[in-house]
Amino acid sequence: MSELRVRLRPDIAAIAPYRQGRMAPEDAFKLSSNENPYPPLPAVVEAVASSPINRYPEGSALGLRVRLAEIWGVTPDEVYVGNGSASIIADLVTATSGPGDEVVFAWKSFEAYPGLTASAGATGVRVPTLPDGRHDIPGLIAAVTDRTKLLILCSPNNPTSTVITREEFDTVMASVPRDLLVVLDEAYVEFVTDPNAVNGRDVLPLHPNLIVLRTFSKAYGLAGLRIGYGIAAQYITDALRTVQVPLGITDLAQRAAIASLDHEEELLERVRVISERRDRFRAALLEQGWEVPEAQGNFVWLTIGERNAEVAAYLEANGLVVRANVDGLRITVGEEETIDLLLRSLGNVIAALRSGEPLAG
Ligand SMILES: *Cc1c(COP(=O)(O)O)cnc(C)c1O
Repeated sequence: MSELRVRLRPDIAAIAPYRQGRMAPEDAFKLSSNENPYPPLPAVVEAVASSPINRYPEGSALGLRVRLAEIWGVTPDEVYVGNGSASIIADLVTATSGPGDEVVFAWKSFEAYPGLTASAGATGVRVPTLPDGRHDIPGLIAAVTDRTKLLILCSPNNPTSTVITREEFDTVMASVPRDLLVVLDEAYVEFVTDPNAVNGRDVLPLHPNLIVLRTFSKAYGLAGLRIGYGIAAQYITDALRTVQVPLGITDLAQRAAIASLDHEEELLERVRVISERRDRFRAALLEQGWEVPEAQGNFVWLTIGERNAEVAAYLEANGLVVRANVDGLRITVGEEETIDLLLRSLGNVIAALRSGEPLAG
């Protein structure tokens, strides 16, 4: 390649590209992307198989929006469908923020937020999470200024798996300007069992400045098809439709989402199995001596510290691919057989961390 370089936006070149959870080799378990371990339901496979893929999709996903509107008690125009909720966050930033504007979010949180904020030329304001992994509510409120155009709340939070309580959410909404758009990113809400957690279904009707985001990627097991949605006032969803890349939501994804809603009970039964597995896994980790934040998503967070990369490599050598952050590991609750494997390996890890010995093979 030539040495010659074209002129890119310096603010973009300064930000690291989004890094996906590591792909796993054939003989390893992939616990790095919070995916659903179950294969798709036969009805979903059937729905996808009959899609006329020589045709463009109905780009606004009208059929799905009508279904979701019934479920949420809103109009179809108040439902916005995107290529996964990650793309909806991109559309939200584009529709609200540009150079000089700020987007406030917790950090650690979803690793896509900084890059998506920078794409619009806006400034991301990262409010450190508390030592227990939870959102710092007073800190987030204090970070909101006249320059803030978007406040993103993530519950359960990726990667710490902690929730925002209803009380905390109410405090935020009562404290920020009523004309500030607040995003409640609920990618994992279906796995929540804590009755004190906020739920977008309950709070959406109370706040005209709120958009609730949901996805079919995690609980519904459609990560490969890229489909999620947001619910908000129509003038907000219209602005999102203005900035959206046209015709991006495939007919396959729309059919699969509708088929998933048709078989929701079966899917939510799987979700209950995973939530129960998560609680069992976390309890066993606490027993081993780990500090694990109260986990409410389909994943748990372990703070490791300096030896994080070594621990991640050790787990991978044992067939367990997890997501390593700077100082901790996010471990997806996947197949049942991974739990014993994880506990055996992590038992060795905690012994090595305590003794300072290296981790053997
Ligand atoms: C996985 C995830 C999303 C979106 O996933 P999509 O596949 O784009 O729908 C959004 N927010 C958080 C916090 C996530 O972890």
